[in-house]
Amino acid sequence: MIKHSSFVCDPWCLPESELNLEVLPQSESLFALSNGHIGWRGNLDEGEPHGLPGSYLNGVHELHPLPYAEAGYGYPESGQTAINVTNGKVIRLLVNDEPFDLRYGRLRSHRRELHLRDGVLQRECVWTSPAGCTVRVSSTRLVSFTQRAVAAIAYEVEPLEDEIRVVIQSELVANEQLPKTGGDPRVAAALTDVLVPEENFSEDVRLRLVHCTQSSGLRVGAAADHVVKGPESTQRYCESGENVSRLTLTSLLRPGEPLRLEKMVSYGWSGVRSLPAVRDQVDAALAGARSTGWQGLAAQQREFLDEFWSRADVEVDGDAEIQQAVRFALFHVLQAGSRAEKRAIPAKGLTGSGYDGHSFWDCETFVLPLLTYTSPGAVAEALRWRHTTLGPARDRASQLGLQGASFPWRTIDGSECSAYWPAGTAAFHVNADIADAVVRYVAATDDREFERETGVEILVETARLWMSLGHHDHHGTFHFDGVTGPDEYSAVADDNLYTNLMAQLNLRAAADAAERYAEESAALGVDDEEAAAWRDAAEAISMPYNDELGVHEQSAGYTGHQVWDFANTRADQYPLMLHFPYFDLYRKQVVKQADLVLALYKRGDAFDEEQKARNFAYYEQLTVRDSSLSACCQAVMAAEVGHLRLAYDYLGEAALMDLEDLENNTRDGLHIASLAGTWLVLVAGFGGMRQHDGGLAFSPKLPERLKRLAFTIQVLERRLTLEIHRSTVTYTLKAGPPLEVLHYGEPVTLSEDRPQTRSVAPRAARPEPDQPPSRRPLRRH
Ligand code: BGC
Repeated sequence: MIKHSSFVCDPWCLPESELNLEVLPQSESLFALSNGHIGWRGNLDEGEPHGLPGSYLNGVHELHPLPYAEAGYGYPESGQTAINVTNGKVIRLLVNDEPFDLRYGRLRSHRRELHLRDGVLQRECVWTSPAGCTVRVSSTRLVSFTQRAVAAIAYEVEPLEDEIRVVIQSELVANEQLPKTGGDPRVAAALTDVLVPEENFSEDVRLRLVHCTQSSGLRVGAAADHVVKGPESTQRYCESGENVSRLTLTSLLRPGEPLRLEKMVSYGWSGVRSLPAVRDQVDAALAGARSTGWQGLAAQQREFLDEFWSRADVEVDGDAEIQQAVRFALFHVLQAGSRAEKRAIPAKGLTGSGYDGHSFWDCETFVLPLLTYTSPGAVAEALRWRHTTLGPARDRASQLGLQGASFPWRTIDGSECSAYWPAGTAAFHVNADIADAVVRYVAATDDREFERETGVEILVETARLWMSLGHHDHHGTFHFDGVTGPDEYSAVADDNLYTNLMAQLNLRAAADAAERYAEESAALGVDDEEAAAWRDAAEAISMPYNDELGVHEQSAGYTGHQVWDFANTRADQYPLMLHFPYFDLYRKQVVKQADLVLALYKRGDAFDEEQKARNFAYYEQLTVRDSSLSACCQAVMAAEVGHLRLAYDYLGEAALMDLEDLENNTRDGLHIASLAGTWLVLVAGFGGMRQHDGGLAFSPKLPERLKRLAFTIQVLERRLTLEIHRSTVTYTLKAGPPLEVLHYGEPVTLSEDRPQTRSVAPRAARPEPDQPPSRRPLRRH
């Protein structure tokens, strides 16, 4: 783990057996706690040393001008960066006269554990100060799933040898000093002193700070309350300044006499509410938390997660690392999305500042599929957030001379803030990815109210965008010229096949929805003619194909381009975007991340088996996986076309992206889409799950190393478990009315608690295709 032996494998926990400062920034990301609204990086309680201090509130960002050497029409002017908000995690400790700082003295033991069933981060360490006083310090931290505005810490200090005097300072800190960032475009621009103090307060054991951002005008409140349990000698006082509000405790402790502090922290923010309103909001949340108490919050957390695991767990026999990794992945994806509630789910969740805290197509394409079948309510909320941003999306479309709505490539508040248009504005596929997420959610839940209130409008407005973006040629074929697909090493190409097929899905879905919801679509101005035009365009969509090679083209003419000189590209020159100019990448055949291969998965209904196998093999030799979003897609398709061993290798890469810091950037935050991809590989890859046209289909098969794979999903208000062995699969419907699924295309009717067992019929293995030299995935042994 993180190439470091201190991280240990465990099926329900991420344990770290000692503290290694050289991987501290990475561990802060792995140990981050979040509920989708609040995010706390796994910083040490005492605040320092740190890699990157991080406390985030979903949606809280600052604006800054986007610098252009040469400006152009339609370039977004304002950038957005998620900011480090008030830090409520800090609990400093003085042991006799010395600060508890692990860089000094002697650290006898240090253990941290992220508990995936309890939803807490636990820490216990024994430390001897430079002057020779030995203390045990332990803490348990949670960000509550059940009380969205609340996080809490139980902190304890106890002397192990002699009587000591301790001072504990429990703080709220705003405008923390942040480390300087480098030149990697994936790292966020650091903004310092962004929070303007508005109010500070302390009384007894209660603290509060309210600040406002300068340009985005967001008001952020944080408050803390404490329960102190310690010897009678314990004294306390509180004080408050513009950027620090602090409770100080002093106590004389003897061995066996710990001082315990239970700290509850609440957060709130608003772009419209007044200072008193935000103040009251955080005070109220805190009152709620206090009445629940630490034990109550911890019990609620466990209950919430028990319920989650009962509908979402994945069991993997035969590979302990993957077992741990998939639960770690499910946990972090749940953290990123569960209580986001009408806010975006950023590419890094709330685990770090990478990508400026922006949300991309990652959310709809990778994260929402997992949540659709495990926490569908979170998906409805994420899509409702998109719906709330239709205003700016319509404005953007009109600015671009297009109809309907054009959703942003990257954003926090819904307006476009990608400063690089070839891989931003031109990546229109994000609109179809959103539409696809709507279709998937409705197919998996039958939530007609959502479809009526939210889905129809998204489908209609995106269909309009496609109609205005595309054109029929003189044969009647429908084309999208000059767009960018998922592969960011190609840009502004004609008829990107992924984009075309996803737009086709979008146009058909819009026409279907317009039929089903005549009133709603009429209110949006849709008439029969418009819906018919959507269908015509969808049926006439261009699918570029190279007859000679017998493969589809990623975009028109793509297979005629020069192939990248892989033989003369050194292993240390990847990722290519950091070593070669885009102009050169763009004109050659080299694929950053699954693009056509992703189309094979998402629109599997548009290809036959042979086409899938040939296409997969062709693009495999060109794909360098310079994006963490690639391995999981390649794995799903490798499994489908019969390369189970390769699929298994890619599974390792997707699953261990952060646990092993494979891209050397886990310190900036976790790769939430790749984590979700771990689940996709197991469920859609080895489980072979597809839901084209509403029906739920499976074609299970296991790679040699796995003895058993079992997973539970939630679909149409039922709970369905698949238990896959080497030669059989058992389908069990845990609850709900009968459900029909397809097993290798054959219908199987499932009724409650009457498991059905079928045989597994894996496809004949094909010879494995090659990858570019030095880009082969690690063999998983
Ligand atoms: C990928 C994009 C992705 C973004 C955020 C980029 O490297 O190419 O597809 O949306 O990262 O994860």
